[in-house]
Order: sequence, then structure tokens, then C-alpha cells
Amino acid sequence: MKVLVVEDTVTSATVVCSWLTNMGLTALHAGSGEAGLEMFGRERPDLILLDIIMPGMDGFEVARRIRALEKEVWTPIIFLTARADENDLKRAIEVGGDDYLIKPVSEVVLKAKISAMRRMAQMRDSLRRVKSKLEKANRELQRLSAIDGLTGIANRRCFDETLLREWRRCSRSELPLSLLVLDVDLFKLFNDHYGHQMGDECLKIVAHTLEETTQRPNDLVTRYGGEEFAAILPETDAEGALAVGEAMRVRIEGLRIDHAWSSVAQVVTISVGVACVIPPRDSEAGIPALIKAADDALYRAKEAGRNQVKASEGVIRVAGPGLANIGALQLRL
Ligand code: GH3
Ligand code: MG
Ligand code: MG
Ligand code: MG
Repeated sequence: MKVLVVEDTVTSATVVCSWLTNMGLTALHAGSGEAGLEMFGRERPDLILLDIIMPGMDGFEVARRIRALEKEVWTPIIFLTARADENDLKRAIEVGGDDYLIKPVSEVVLKAKISAMRRMAQMRDSLRRVKSKLEKANRELQRLSAIDGLTGIANRRCFDETLLREWRRCSRSELPLSLLVLDVDLFKLFNDHYGHQMGDECLKIVAHTLEETTQRPNDLVTRYGGEEFAAILPETDAEGALAVGEAMRVRIEGLRIDHAWSSVAQVVTISVGVACVIPPRDSEAGIPALIKAADDALYRAKEAGRNQVKASEGVIRVAGPGLANIGALQLRL
């Protein structure tokens, strides 16, 4: 433990420093307020013994400046002074002092005060450690709350938050926002044939494959629920979204996961619905319309025989200044 003694009277400083050394502490001496401040910045002591009356900067000013410099930490300050005026004591505490000793200081009293300060410092350090552990745990909780337990990809909650954020961002920059809804074909039959556990394994592989297929850092693949996934593709037009959807479909088929009871293929396949919008400003109410458009497109892909990608048709109505055309290859407000 490092103790900084700021004291202009050399004899007094020498005595105090030798007591500190005897206690096994490291004593640093500064002969003026200015030197004390400078040494505080350089040495970052654990405790400061601070004289009040000194030529130049007095102890009150030194304490005030130290407190202004400190942000997260609080270095204990014990004032040492020959003055025994209670208003000085009041002021010493006001400027940030923790205790006050009247000179000549007794060795026993000084040692006792230092022990008390040390105890407080230990308490403060352990609080700081607990705080940092809590912060870490909170960050981990935050991360986990956005993740789907089975597949480890983003969950529904993360989908909702991200879609809202990207909707706002794209509306500000007047850029297209695309949404893919992807559903595993005839998955009930997969479970019936291979069992739920195999079903779970299949969903994990599908999830990671979909995630791997996206390229851009802002693309997000989420587990929307059950065997259904949703991908948010910001700054992506309908044509681009169709291409991503098709790439995903091809990759899943290419995994060649056996699905003997499927009437679509011998392997696991997905159907994909695509919708795209340039979100009008201040029109978050249009989000459900975007989701419904992608869902409708998915339904049509299922109707048309599954294992395919369909884009939404026509115009979705969104609250706000205009209509967003989300036809497959056309994007206008
Ligand atoms: P469709 O091609 O029309 O989508 O047919 P489907 O059988 O995939 O659709 P349906 O909605 O009838 O059934 C979905 C099935 O997905 C029901 C359930 O057995 C399965 N499923 C949903 N969530 C999970 C899961 O977390 N694990 C497993 N193993 N199966 C799941
Ligand atoms: Mg003095
Ligand atoms: Mg399905
Ligand atoms: Mg489904």
C-alpha cells in the first residue's frame, strides 16, 4: 500500500514517513501542494495524508483538485493540521476529505486511522469486483435473451427488435428492406419418421446453413418459431432478396438430409416467401404488413409444390405518406 504524505514541514513529514515505513507501507513525500498533486497523478497512491497550511496551494485546494481528477476511484484523504478549528474540519470534509488529524499526531492514532482506511479500501475493492462480475453476467444475460436455445441463432425476440430497428434505419435512408420467411417442408412427417430428436438435429443444421448463406454483416437469420425461420436483409431489393432466398433453398437441398417420407424430394427442403419494401417515414405500423406479405408468399410457394421461392405480389398498404410497391422486381414508393 502506497501512502502519499503532502507536508511542507520536513521534520513532521520525516516522522510520519518513518512510522508508515515501520508499518510496512510505502511512504512518498511531497513538500508542497503542487508537488503533491503531481505525485498523485504519477504514483496513484492508496491513501493521502494531507497538510492544510502550506505555502502556495493549500491542502483544501489539493483535495478539491484530486476529487475533480478522480472518476471511478476514491482515494482516501486524511488531513493533518496544526489548526484545531472545527470550521476547518467541516471544510476539510466538504472538499472531499475522509478524516482529520490534529498535529502533533500520535503514532497510535495515525496507525489506527490507517487501518480503518485500509478496511474501507478493501471493502471498496471487493464491491468493485462484484460490480464488474455483475456487469459481465448482465452482458451474458442480454446475449442469451436474444438467442434461440435449440439452434443457437437469433430468436424471435431478436427478430422483432432487429426488424423494427432496420425498418427505421431504411426509412431514414429510403433504402429497401427485405424479409424472407423460410419453412421446412413436410417437417411433421420428418419427425414422425425419424423422431423428434433427429428433428431437432435437422433444425440445428438448417439454422446454421441458412446463417452461413448470408453475406452482409447486417443480414440476420432468426428462428421465427418451430420449423420456421426469418431472414432480415436490410438495404436489399426484391431481386437481391429473391437471389438470397434461392441460394438458401439450394443449400438446404444440397445438404441431402434424408427425408424418406417427403413427397417433394428424397431430402429435406425448404419453401421461401420473399417481401420487400422501402419503409415510408414514421410508418412502423407497416411492419405487420411486410411480415404478412412474406407469409402470403410462403403460402403460395407451399401451394405451388414446395421446395421453391416466391415473392409477394402487388402492393402492401402501409400507414404513412405513400404505398410501397413490393412486387417481385419493382420497388417504388
Ligand atoms: P409444410 O410443408 O406445410 O410446412 O408441412 P409441415 O409438416 O412442415 O408443417 P406443419 O406446420 O404441419 O408441421 C410443422 C412441424 O414441425 C410440427 C412439428 O412436428 C415440427 N416442429 C416444430 N418445432 C419443432 C422443434 O423444435 N423440434 C422438432 N423436432 N420439430 C419441430
Ligand atoms: Mg504546513
Ligand atoms: Mg413446415
Ligand atoms: Mg411451419
